[in-house]
Amino acid sequence: MYIFGIDIGGTSVKIGLFKDTFELLEQWEISTHPESLFEEVSESIKKFLKKQEISFAQIFGYGVGVPGMVKNGIALSCVNLGWQNVDVKEEFSKALGYDARVYVFNDANIAAFGEAAYLNSKWDSVIFITLGTGVGGGIIFHHEIIEGADGLGGEIGHICIDDKYHLTCGCGKIGCLETIASATGMLRLAQYYRDKLPTKLDLNGKLAAKDIIDAAKEEDPLASCVFDEACQALAKAMANLSVIINPDAFIIGGGVSNAGAFLLERIKKHYANVCIKQAAHTNINLAVLKNNAGIYGACAYLINKKHEVEKNGKC
Ligand SMILES: [Zn+2]
Repeated sequence: MYIFGIDIGGTSVKIGLFKDTFELLEQWEISTHPESLFEEVSESIKKFLKKQEISFAQIFGYGVGVPGMVKNGIALSCVNLGWQNVDVKEEFSKALGYDARVYVFNDANIAAFGEAAYLNSKWDSVIFITLGTGVGGGIIFHHEIIEGADGLGGEIGHICIDDKYHLTCGCGKIGCLETIASATGMLRLAQYYRDKLPTKLDLNGKLAAKDIIDAAKEEDPLASCVFDEACQALAKAMANLSVIINPDAFIIGGGVSNAGAFLLERIKKHYANVCIKQAAHTNINLAVLKNNAGIYGACAYLINKKHEVEKNGKC
């Protein structure tokens, strides 16, 4: 049997065909046109299947990640796509032209599933944190994605963590984790410290989080402080999550995670200082699948569902 993983982004849609053994056979992308997205994705899949001489009967199902809050297959709100309350499952099945098995998730949540399955399929509960423009995430609890009552489950970036900088978050709150630990957050902290600490960084020029991290590696005083504050805020949030979920592992992804071991070691150091001692052994890993985490996650989720069907005859 085959499984499709589909990751809808603001500019492109990633489509991956997998074997039900978690093996990626083929992947491609098409441009995102929100108004005709379901038809275009379906057409692209149908064309591919025809060429490969694969029938719908050989497809176990489709896992779809969407950039917004999702609850029970409905995309409640996707700002980038201009979607409100879109029944992705129904619309996609309609476009495919048959009653397909479709599962729909928030993109970070399904990416969490992918990274967790790829790193260690035996992990029962995992928290995935993406450090990019914002801080995103996904929580896997007993092999299931936590959506919560309003699709807000796993919105780790909006954990209220800070009472020092009082920065306003995109969500409207003050002191969210993302105001400090994201790439944007680090840039804001750099401005906060501009007259307080010496630096070689050009704070009036075009600065990226990578510049701050690179300067921190060279022990630039301002950059070191900003980087350390970001890692400390993240570690605090992780310590708080560890006594709620008690995960097997934390996985750190997103553009900032390209800082690699330098980032990981700093997070581990702070986490060890603030976590409850019984949670000190929790694995902390860097993400490995990066941009493919969504399609892999969709596949991993569907494989679990296939096992349920084989065991119980339903899902
Ligand atoms: Zn927020």
